[in-house]
Amino acid sequence: MPAPVIGVLALQGAFAAHEDALRGLGVATRQVRTPADLAQVDALVMPGGESTTMSRLLRTSHMYQPLADRLGSGMPVFGTCAGMILLATEVIDGRPDQRSFGVIDLTVRRNGYGRQVDSFETDIEVRGLATPFHAVFIRAPKVMATGAAVEVLAVHDDVPVLAQQAHVMVASFHPEITPDARLHRMFLEHNGLSTEKERA
Ligand code: GLN
Repeated sequence: MPAPVIGVLALQGAFAAHEDALRGLGVATRQVRTPADLAQVDALVMPGGESTTMSRLLRTSHMYQPLADRLGSGMPVFGTCAGMILLATEVIDGRPDQRSFGVIDLTVRRNGYGRQVDSFETDIEVRGLATPFHAVFIRAPKVMATGAAVEVLAVHDDVPVLAQQAHVMVASFHPEITPDARLHRMFLEHNGLSTEKERA
């Protein structure tokens, strides 16, 4: 089987650090900006940034429907922060014209941690990891409700902050800005996407 290529949606936001994290794990990456780029990848990371802007750029670059089709046919995806908003079924406090793909059964409130404490860092326990993960939240979405099919992998103050449903994994924080790629590895392993080191 050819080595998998992991795409990183590169329309806007924190995509470069995700690429670094994935490369550090020995997988091939590709920046995705067009439908042609999308056709070349086996999985996708949707980074943090600004979900309203990303939603608009997805439409103007003719990416929205091709991406919806790939997500609908099971392409693994890891959405962080704004990426989580774009994957959720319901968004509270979004802009009226912003659209989400609705592939993980979550209700999220955009900027839900409020203005006063809009950014913070904390160590969280993650199911499947032996030691805590340092999570950085930046104007993060807050999970208000989860559907029955959603597996919660970590909580902060009883609120889910890391979750998955089938091929869709989401984090409300930024796992790419700390030098700890365990969540990227978890995403790859959960979806059977092996790294170079494993194939060697
Ligand atoms: N508040 C941003 C949004 O609504 C998300 C912030 C982030 O991705 N760091 O899209």
